[in-house]
Amino acid sequence: MAVNILALGGDGIGPEVLEAGLAVAEAVASRSGIALNITEDLLHGAAWEAHGTFCTDETLTKAKAADAILVGAVGGPQWDDIRVGGGPEMQDGLMRLRFELQSFAGLRPARFWVPLADRTPFRPGVAEGADIMVLREMCGGVMFDQPRGQSERGGLRYGYDTAGYDEGELRRIMQAGFELARQRKGQMVSADKANVMESYKLWRQVAEEVSADYPDVELTHFYADNCAYQLARNPRAFDLVVGCNLIGDFLSDLAAIVSGGLGMLPSACLCGVPAEGQTCNGIYEPVHGSAPDIAGQGVANPFGMILSVAMMYRYSLGRPDLERQIEQAVERVLASGTGTADIGGSASTSDVTGAVLRELTA
Ligand code: NAD
Repeated sequence: MAVNILALGGDGIGPEVLEAGLAVAEAVASRSGIALNITEDLLHGAAWEAHGTFCTDETLTKAKAADAILVGAVGGPQWDDIRVGGGPEMQDGLMRLRFELQSFAGLRPARFWVPLADRTPFRPGVAEGADIMVLREMCGGVMFDQPRGQSERGGLRYGYDTAGYDEGELRRIMQAGFELARQRKGQMVSADKANVMESYKLWRQVAEEVSADYPDVELTHFYADNCAYQLARNPRAFDLVVGCNLIGDFLSDLAAIVSGGLGMLPSACLCGVPAEGQTCNGIYEPVHGSAPDIAGQGVANPFGMILSVAMMYRYSLGRPDLERQIEQAVERVLASGTGTADIGGSASTSDVTGAVLRELTA
């Protein structure tokens, strides 16, 4: 089996964690008779410095041809205020990739890790066993919709965005959610603000319509504010939560508290959720940013990237067994007390990566 991977380190700690992820990806592949063809390229700030654009058309072409794309992290203060022509996706290399590939289904899992219990704000007995998947819509809604801008109203400066989805966009994210629910506990919470906003009234209607095709999945509607409150109070009560681009963004960070650290969180952006045994292309990236404050020091936590590689094995290579192998290796490394400073350890990025590689071959 041969798999084409496009690897985009990006900025700050991105290339450091990507190196860790690639080492794990290759170790798992070589033990499993899988040939990885890895092509590396630049994204966002690194691409801007080299080409004057955040994502070149050539990179996009390579991305469309790849089976999977691994991204480290992008961004940095020196590029934050640059504005180029085009829509919001042109201002950010990663957003352009997600948008052009229409990787609309953002899977953001957060689970409780026993060795990191003290890194969470929960008292004993509240978060143990929590395993939450937030499904965030990634290609539409208020972060993309038009009109948006700044003007003047009544002599005052005025900023505005549009929060809208058409029913096609809603149908596909709901279908992705119901497919995911079938592979989990058969339950899905949909978070919206249908009490006050028209776009969410349609969100809720379409959720109900699509649910008719998935009678085996229990759909529950929550207003997003209450959902956030209940998630923080009782994270174990939730399995899968679906939200729009904005609500999904907030809820995935909130759910992430159960993991004990931003550096622990993986993600996948898919063009739909494949049925069990099927595969799809995807962008796999840790949730954290480029962490300019620690870039170049060799201390970045690589677990989020390594767990993103695990998700790649499941969704783009159809090998949930290899996803599990990587997760178990991470569990054992954490249990041994090895970790970077952000999760209370003193190991370097390469120490942690080496420990995962040893566990994989043990
Ligand atoms: P950040 O996630 O980069 O960092 C927040 C804090 O967490 C920092 O103190 C950082 O040192 C720490 N941290 C993050 N990842 C870590 C890791 N793997 N190991 C150890 N510590 C880690 O968020 P920020 O500071 O708000 O943003 C920095 C830049 O990253 C900005 O330009 C932002 O736009 C960008 N960003 C990119 C992504 C992405 O690429 N997906 C996501 C979020 C932010």
